[in-house]
Amino acid sequence: MKSKPFFFDLSLPQVEAHLQALGAERYRARQLWEGIYKNLAPSPKKISNLPENLREQLETTLTFSALTVQSTVSSRDGETEKYLLETQDEKAIEVVLMRYHRRHTACISTQIGCGMGCVFCATGQMGFKRNLSSGEIIEQVIRVARQLGTNGDRLSNIVFMGMGEPFQNYEASMDVIDRLNDPEGFNFGKRRFTISTVGLVPMIERFTQERRQANLAISLHAATNALRERLLPINRRYPLEALMPACRSYTVQSGRRITFEWALIQGVNDGDEQAAALADWVHRMNCHINIIPLNPTDGYEGKAANLDQVTRFQNALEQAGISTTIRVRRGIDIQAGCGQLAAEKQRNDSD
Ligand code: SAH
Ligand code: SF4
Repeated sequence: MKSKPFFFDLSLPQVEAHLQALGAERYRARQLWEGIYKNLAPSPKKISNLPENLREQLETTLTFSALTVQSTVSSRDGETEKYLLETQDEKAIEVVLMRYHRRHTACISTQIGCGMGCVFCATGQMGFKRNLSSGEIIEQVIRVARQLGTNGDRLSNIVFMGMGEPFQNYEASMDVIDRLNDPEGFNFGKRRFTISTVGLVPMIERFTQERRQANLAISLHAATNALRERLLPINRRYPLEALMPACRSYTVQSGRRITFEWALIQGVNDGDEQAAALADWVHRMNCHINIIPLNPTDGYEGKAANLDQVTRFQNALEQAGISTTIRVRRGIDIQAGCGQLAAEKQRNDSD
């Protein structure tokens, strides 16, 4: 049996074609689109301006959910919520909602597992399973938005920093941004998205050429090739001599700031020589460094740098005139680090 098309995988013209095939008038597609994306209806059953028989036809010819909630965990401070979701092929993915400074940020996944093998990352430790479809990524956002909506709250930011490497699933990731941007639908500004990549240079170049408006963050974590390739194996394919000019070129061509992520690992990448090498690479670049103490994972013995080390590293950069923030890891008690909950579920399932 052929499976039904998944609504969130479809563009508006595809939804229009579907409704046309059902014999409905053209404007009904907009009503459906608005009902789901603007009013966050869980299914056509709840879209009262659609005729009853059309609602039934839609329910039988389209799927409106491809993910089921397996569990929800909240951090003790109540600022972070994590949803473990299951795909139709019974794989676990996760989406995290962070609430702070009256902002609500959804951290979404783009792949099941990840093939990039960064040694300290729980998702990397799982290996690559498959790409998520644009619809599976969108449903993560919609679920968080519906949850917030129950308290009259709205999403402020969406970050592609959950499981997987978004630039390995480039087209789906860009479709997500374009579709959620539709002013007649979810109406989410492109500049409120942030894409984080491990540094796939051809994709950074493509992103630059296409003049994409989402914010760009690069997982740097080391400023010498010897160290970076030990932590992030992809550095062998795209060493710093390729990566950093691509980043600089992005800032010049887009006129926008780039963010570098730096997970600070005690005794590994927290020393003065790394800070100095980093300062050299980003000299006069329009950039910002996010320093995040490492979130410990089972598959990696490195420890988080302590507060003294974090401050020392930050001071070294600030003295070189580089803007930095220390991002406190939120939700550590619920393993809200990248991929940690889904990795744990996978381990339990295989026990
Ligand atoms: N694949 C993309 C996006 C997902 S990871 C990327 O790598 O950029 C989101 C961020 O979390 C990345 O900066 C990643 O390096 C970081 N990260 C992964 N595991 C971590 C850990 N254990 N502690 C701190 N940061 C981690
Ligand atoms: Fe993949 Fe990003 Fe984790 Fe590296 S840090 S393994 S690229 S998800």
